Amino acid sequence: MIIVMTSKATLKDRNAIVKRLEGQGYMVDISEGKERTLIGAIGANVDNKDAIMNQLTTLPYVEKVVPILKPYKLAGKEIHERTEIDLGAGVTIGGNQIVIMAGPCAVEGADKVIEIAKALKAAGVKVFRAGAYKPRTSPYSFQGYGLAGLKMLAAVREETGMRIVTEVMAPRDLKHVEKYADVVQVGTRNMHNFELLKDCGKCSKPILLKRGLAATIEEWLLAAEYIMKAGNPNVILCERGIRTFEPYTRNTLDLNAVAAVKHLSHLPVVADPSHGTGRYELVAPMAKASIAAGADGLMLEAHTNPGEAISDSQQTISIKDYRALKKQLQAVAAAVGRKL
Ligand code: PEP
Ligand code: MN
Repeated sequence: MIIVMTSKATLKDRNAIVKRLEGQGYMVDISEGKERTLIGAIGANVDNKDAIMNQLTTLPYVEKVVPILKPYKLAGKEIHERTEIDLGAGVTIGGNQIVIMAGPCAVEGADKVIEIAKALKAAGVKVFRAGAYKPRTSPYSFQGYGLAGLKMLAAVREETGMRIVTEVMAPRDLKHVEKYADVVQVGTRNMHNFELLKDCGKCSKPILLKRGLAATIEEWLLAAEYIMKAGNPNVILCERGIRTFEPYTRNTLDLNAVAAVKHLSHLPVVADPSHGTGRYELVAPMAKASIAAGADGLMLEAHTNPGEAISDSQQTISIKDYRALKKQLQAVAAAVGRKL
């Protein structure tokens, strides 16, 4: 439920309600508006909800109490309109500024990641992506450097000042990824791994939650809800393409979903046209389309020598391609009132 306080309600009134709701087993989320405060109370297991709502309605400093009808109560827009997430080093996502996250598919070795990161930094990229734990279709393919790879990413942060986003695949690795990353990525294959999501809810770092390759928008938002309900409000949604009947592209980048989740949720939304298309020549047009559709950021696979990338080379753009794309993205961003 949402408790809408009157414009005259004081901090003391608010605290009294928070205390009362917490005592009744609710999780409380406060949204401070210009005119009035909204108190969101989430507690699916509270069985005398109607009585509690009626009681709260009688309080003089409560204007009204409304039920939250959407199943994703924390991720939906009922309590918050927009969320900005601070990634550190002056990078914020969800505001006016578009955030570019770029880098190779995988951490390919200490020297290689530094080389790519420096080239991207020189092109203006502030967030570096690369996987240390790689979810590969074949168990015979390169599986990533694991913990050693995380340490290579920490060296990238140290040397370049860039923020690091990298994937966690298993709950047992979360403590390591949390330690070395600035943003913890949950990949498409794990969007339904509810135990991992709950653990991410206890994580101190923002979570970039990729959409499951066969997940509906509602399932995706409910996956975000798992993380938020477990205590971590900092979730970034990432549309990375869904599996359709079309074999020409690896996936179908669902830009409907980008616009839809911007409409349904207050969380920042990133699009990944690299995995979304699986073809490097389609990355630039779909990156531009993503910004036009309202994305708050992009995740791009980029490499100093895409032809030598260990994984996903066919969808990886060069640094030169990125520089050219950036100019066009700036124009698209300006057209939709954003900055890049
Ligand atoms: C990735 O970003 O490296 C990745 C594996 O992505 P996805 O989970 O979208 O396939
Ligand atoms: Mn990849």
